[in-house]
Amino acid sequence: MMHLGLVGYPLKHSFSPAIHEAAMRCCGLRGEYSLYAVPETDGAALRQLVNRLRDGEITGLNVTIPHKQAILQFVDTLTPEAQAIGAVNVLHVQDGSVVGQNTDCAAFITDLLAWLPAPRLGIVLGAGGAARAVIHGLATLGCKVHAAARRPGQSRELLARFANIVSAGPISDDLLRDPADLVVNATPAGMFPRVDGCAWPEAVPLPAHAAVYDLVYNPRQTRLLSRARAQGLLVRNGLGMLVEQAALAFELWTGCRAPRPVMSEAVSRCAG
Ligand code: NAP
Repeated sequence: MMHLGLVGYPLKHSFSPAIHEAAMRCCGLRGEYSLYAVPETDGAALRQLVNRLRDGEITGLNVTIPHKQAILQFVDTLTPEAQAIGAVNVLHVQDGSVVGQNTDCAAFITDLLAWLPAPRLGIVLGAGGAARAVIHGLATLGCKVHAAARRPGQSRELLARFANIVSAGPISDDLLRDPADLVVNATPAGMFPRVDGCAWPEAVPLPAHAAVYDLVYNPRQTRLLSRARAQGLLVRNGLGMLVEQAALAFELWTGCRAPRPVMSEAVSRCAG
């Protein structure tokens, strides 16, 4: 019996139970996928969940907003990639130790390269766990990055961690002087239910030759993607990445090959 789950806050609209329960059914595995809604301030509850994983009561955990960095302190070991990124989205147990892994990075790169050739210069919006995974992934492709972080402290942290960052700070007209070929939204701006949000300033046009990838997948077409389409740019939402990060986690937890088409169908049903 697999006891899988997701820790984050809030979690009401998560697609993960539908994706993983469909995958378990398809592979003939018995199991459940639970939602653990833990507020940002409740470090004790986070620690307790990791202990339940270590004790074998939980088989595997996904980690989402706002805990991808905070949970690092409770984990026993990190994969080299999770260490480089400084954020985890999957936990599993190996030889009694809780291992923190990052499947967001590989999932983003797989989905990006299924869509476009490797980019040369990207602008990444956001400075949280997802932005870090994206920046690290772009580094593996040799892609330089302007990191659009809105707080000076976040900008400094990113500059110190990632060698492929050429500048960090708020978005301005100056950024458009460099011909970026990719813009990635790794903030929750535009996500349901606050669908009018957009992390790209209204007064600044998007770079004229960039493809625009929004990690947000609910709604499928965010305000950012609508603006990009109106400028004639190529756009992609986060649904492909969502399926791929789930597939990689499923394989880690179960040892079974993930049934990606089944997981995609489950996502499509959730996304409407
Ligand atoms: P996070 O750790 O909370 O980080 C969010 C970052 O975005 C923070 O740096 C935050 O800055 C910034 N931000 C928030 N609102 C903003 C705004 N209106 N304008 C500019 N910056 C803003 O979250 P995360 O885990 O990185 O996730 C970010 C988004 O990616 C979420 O929507 C999540 O669902 C999505 N995601 C999708 C996938 C997928 O598979 N498609 C995978 C991972 C994440 P402050 O700290 O100043 O608030």
